[in-house]
Amino acid sequence: MKRHFHIITYGCQMNRYDSGALRTLLEERGHKWVEHPDNADFIVVNTCAVRQHAENRALSRLSMLASMKKKRKNLLVGIMGCVAQELGEEIVQKIPTIDFIVGTDKMAVVADIADGGVNGKIFTDIDKEFRGIDIPAHIEKGARSAFVTIMRGCDNFCSYCIVPYVRGRERSRSPQKIIAEIKNAVASGIVEITLLGQNVNSYRYDALDFPALLDKIAQISGLQRIRFVTNHPKDFSPKILDTVEKHADKIPPAFHLPLQSGSDKILAAMNRKYTFSQYLRTIEQIYRRFPDAAVTTDIIAGFPGENDDDYSATLAAIDKVRFAGIFAFRYSVRQGTAASHLEDNVPEEIKIARLNEIIRKGIHYAKTYSHNLIGTVQKVLLEGDAPKNPGFLRGIAPSGRIVLFPKNEFADKIVPVKIEKAGTWILWGKI
Ligand code: SF4
Repeated sequence: MKRHFHIITYGCQMNRYDSGALRTLLEERGHKWVEHPDNADFIVVNTCAVRQHAENRALSRLSMLASMKKKRKNLLVGIMGCVAQELGEEIVQKIPTIDFIVGTDKMAVVADIADGGVNGKIFTDIDKEFRGIDIPAHIEKGARSAFVTIMRGCDNFCSYCIVPYVRGRERSRSPQKIIAEIKNAVASGIVEITLLGQNVNSYRYDALDFPALLDKIAQISGLQRIRFVTNHPKDFSPKILDTVEKHADKIPPAFHLPLQSGSDKILAAMNRKYTFSQYLRTIEQIYRRFPDAAVTTDIIAGFPGENDDDYSATLAAIDKVRFAGIFAFRYSVRQGTAASHLEDNVPEEIKIARLNEIIRKGIHYAKTYSHNLIGTVQKVLLEGDAPKNPGFLRGIAPSGRIVLFPKNEFADKIVPVKIEKAGTWILWGKI
């Protein structure tokens, strides 16, 4: 039986990529994608377990979808991804009518279920070998940018993070599969690729490490821009900078390096495996070689045991690094992690006050970074019309900033734009 399917995706870029890969797999087997769940008879919710809130949202959506089964007898509704992996059978207790629960990295099982060739409904053993499926992820018509997963899982066990438990240990994909997928994407009109992994810096396939992989990818003809996320400060090596420098025309010096805290005591409690001075040394190397580098980061406010001194160390770290962007979060307990055994002892109002100050500082430096780009010419990857600014086109600068510029019929996929005005996250200019 051929099904009409829809996939609902929560969470990170990796989940978006996995949903794209599942879509290709289902289409290859003859099932038909539909834009709206109301028109589907096979619905998959791909979930994220990083935050309790995201998990709750996904489960309540799932419960709503499962309730549609009362009226639509042939409808199958299931869950895949990190929440499925984490909760497994518990989901049946919460949503008894659910048809299938498929953990991480099991897109092929979901496809078998759609085909009608599978008995049972819970599949949550972690596949230690899975390195990605062989078919390329779905690419939207007219898209210029795409994600490609290069490795899966994580060995780092940061104490606040659930990922190593739900995505398993690190496995790197073969360079042949990665390169074939990128070439296929380029042939479909893609000019920018973002390489994905929980820690791309620890990519290794036989003797090939991440800088060597990056070097190979940069030689693919037709590919014009390469990004990569996420880096881990303990694994970020000068060899990566060598490769970025060698392919400066294709790899912008934009690095997301999650700091999390400026306090060595808190970094140790988080099991991050670097001190702030080690982190700073990496940043100094980056700025020495790429003075305009866009360094962005993640920071957690109010981790257990964070006192005023630890918090001040984080503020001082922000002042030293002058990040182009900060993604700040307030700590919340994630059950199943090592940190869930620590007393969550920073009062909520203090967490919020610290978070707000980190955000305020983050905006200040983000604005400074953007303002420094006024007068420069940026190679902007054109995305299309700017929906909120009629008469303007919208694109992405190498730093990741959004750029708006007056509509121009000669605009190519990557256009040089002279920046004339800057907000915090948006730049304005002219071709
Ligand atoms: S590096 Fe740390 S934060 Fe990132 S996925 Fe691995 S355990 Fe989680």
